[in-house]
Amino acid sequence: MPVQVVSAEFAKTATRPDEWPRGPAPEIAFVGRSNVGKSSMLNALARRKGLARVSATPGRTRALQFFDVAVRPTPAARPRQVRFCDLPGYGYAKVSKDERDRWAAMIEDYLRGRDVLRAVVLIVDARHPPAESDADALAFLRGSGRAVIVAATKTDKLPRTRIGASLREVEAALGLGRGEVVPFSAVEGTGSDALWARLAAATAPEASAADGAT
Ligand code: GDP
Repeated sequence: MPVQVVSAEFAKTATRPDEWPRGPAPEIAFVGRSNVGKSSMLNALARRKGLARVSATPGRTRALQFFDVAVRPTPAARPRQVRFCDLPGYGYAKVSKDERDRWAAMIEDYLRGRDVLRAVVLIVDARHPPAESDADALAFLRGSGRAVIVAATKTDKLPRTRIGASLREVEAALGLGRGEVVPFSAVEGTGSDALWARLAAATAPEASAADGAT
């Protein structure tokens, strides 16, 4: 049974840790190369077209954007609150080394200090082998000890018969197991249910109890 989104709204923008929203809602962060399709994925997951701004100019966002989302994991369940954090994209060729360093510092602060963070969705382009910056991002996220869910978007741009092989290539290139990468298309609206299933598991109250026990 697919997760039902009850409501989704923009919460706030933050450039410093003291601006991160408070409250116990479990959080999922989203990251990927500039222009990979992150905003479109957030909108598709939230089932709200204009929630995250789909940008024509890549490499602009230099802040964290937070969204409050209420979901019903099963039709009978009470809605529960989760938070999305849209992390700035990386890998944009035109940014200076200084800016890249600022990106890394901001993300590092967030990964280290965000205690409600449960998992990070790393978004890659299903059409191409992952870029070096994608592999670097995965290593960086893993190095922080965070759970990482890899999603490959824009599958609609591939011939249907190529999708499986492309996913296997992404998995092999990133050293992931078969079936670990979640295929997604914001254009076709596919992959949302499968990704939400992973997000619901990562943000489930039991997951928090288990965290507390370790
Ligand atoms: P972001 O910079 O990572 O937030 O990427 P955006 O969501 O702004 O999307 C960048 C470009 O890719 C836009 O032109 C989108 O319309 C396009 N795009 C995003 N998702 C998809 C998808 O699933 N399929 C296709 N074909 N295009 C997409």
